[in-house]
Amino acid sequence: MLASLKRITAKRKILKLPLFMARYSEFPLSLYNSYTREKEVFKTLHPGKVGMYVCGPTVYSYVHLGNVRTFLTFDVLYRYLIHLGYQVRYVRNITDVGHLVDDIDEGEDKIAKKARIDNIEPMEVVQKYTNDFHDTLKLFNFLNPSIEPTATGHIIEQIQMVQQILDNGFAYIVNGSVYFDVPKYQEAKGNYGRLSGRVLEDLMSNTRELDGQEEKKSPLDFAIWKKAEAMHIMKWPSPWGMGFPGWHLECSAMSTKYLGKEFDIHGGGMDLKFPHHECEIAQSVASDGIAPVKYWMHSNMLTVNGQKMSKSLGNSFTPAELLTGDHPLLKKGYTPMTVRFFMLQSHYSSTLDFSNDALEASEKGYKRLMKAWATLDSLVWKSGNVDLQLDKEITEALDEAYTNLSDDLNTAKCIANLFDLATRINSMANGQLDSGMLSKGTFDRLQKEFPEILRDILGILPEDGGDSGVVDGLMKLLINIRQNARANKDFATSDQIRNTLNELGIQIKDGADGTSYSLN
Ligand code: AMP
Ligand code: ZN
Repeated sequence: MLASLKRITAKRKILKLPLFMARYSEFPLSLYNSYTREKEVFKTLHPGKVGMYVCGPTVYSYVHLGNVRTFLTFDVLYRYLIHLGYQVRYVRNITDVGHLVDDIDEGEDKIAKKARIDNIEPMEVVQKYTNDFHDTLKLFNFLNPSIEPTATGHIIEQIQMVQQILDNGFAYIVNGSVYFDVPKYQEAKGNYGRLSGRVLEDLMSNTRELDGQEEKKSPLDFAIWKKAEAMHIMKWPSPWGMGFPGWHLECSAMSTKYLGKEFDIHGGGMDLKFPHHECEIAQSVASDGIAPVKYWMHSNMLTVNGQKMSKSLGNSFTPAELLTGDHPLLKKGYTPMTVRFFMLQSHYSSTLDFSNDALEASEKGYKRLMKAWATLDSLVWKSGNVDLQLDKEITEALDEAYTNLSDDLNTAKCIANLFDLATRINSMANGQLDSGMLSKGTFDRLQKEFPEILRDILGILPEDGGDSGVVDGLMKLLINIRQNARANKDFATSDQIRNTLNELGIQIKDGADGTSYSLN
């Protein structure tokens, strides 16, 4: 065992890799696959490597909090995969052309429409809202993806894919547009509707006759290339004339380009299952002959009073409104970490209803964990009588935190484990428990892994400038000054310190073992 570890260490030195043991075999990951509707053990296509594609935003308006929830699910999955030791290529696109108003094949391009209304260039619209998207994700401490391709940057790849689908006989050209032939595809492959659980016959009977859809052989067909009218600004030359790609096509073309014809994970919001993801599968199968994705994952919706948060329903707010509290739905402002924590307290597959009460509870929970983190940092292990039961419980709580994350990314249960650990940590700080009641190994593991789970996997940071020890250090200083003032009978100073801290929501408690503090 020791010899093999030495060999691995030597190899890593040559390869200049950090000494890091892959943990994916220690805590094997299972994910709920929306395609098979089963929780499955996660097995990568290539050993140790993961290819993950997530549909990015259509950049024609400010990001709202619902969008943040979906991207957060995949940020945590990305972080966890890295933590488990996988080498991950995470591709998240920017939709900057082709997404039409009403999500159907007629009507204006969402970006071109916004450009017309604001009287600016479409690319100004794209830049403005791409910047907003990036700023928002930074605010909530998201990691950048490995590649962030744009639809307009991949027109050639999309034209090639349209051609391939035409060559394979699953599309037809009408008046400069190219349509995907759904009935023909279904007859040959039979899997259209499998992901979203839709039955073709039902879709047929529910499909309205829409204006301008008369070019299609069947109302189920969808455009993979659209002819651009003379007024249309965003258009490119193609073998079928001037036009632009259909919305669903970009994700198929870009995922294939960067992850291959088959890759591990494809994610997005639940509302993208149909038609977007259903069409993505059909396009790839029609073009390359294979279903592209091993694990389809869908994050559920953020709702307000049970209704999906969306810009068009007028029940959405932007991150800026959330921070300032300047919105009729908000009682007050909440910090980005409170919001991140709030979202992770529910499982990604459940709907999450926004409420001020829930956010206020999360604010308290977040502060409790940050306090435990700061306390843990300041604790020093001293040899003592090891309490085997306590030692075992802490080891189990840490293991369970990982097991829960490995169980379809159950952040809610993982956070419950952290609360459990926080109670023990606070007891050590209050002197009810002694650090020496833990073995050195368990104490070191707790001191390393409790912050690792919070910071590296859940992406939760202290909001005091990034150093959880700073607040604690300042508090110790203030408590000392106050104690000195009291010893010198300078009650004006000691009261001033206590009252000011009270106003900031920090309580000071004088006990038999000294003075401690708590954040409300
Ligand atoms: P869009 O820019 O509209 O394509 O949306 C970007 C992402 O946000 C997609 O994955 C959507 O599924 C997701 N999304 C939109 N509204 C919500 C919501 N209320 N809750 C969660 N995710 C959402
Ligand atoms: Zn997509």
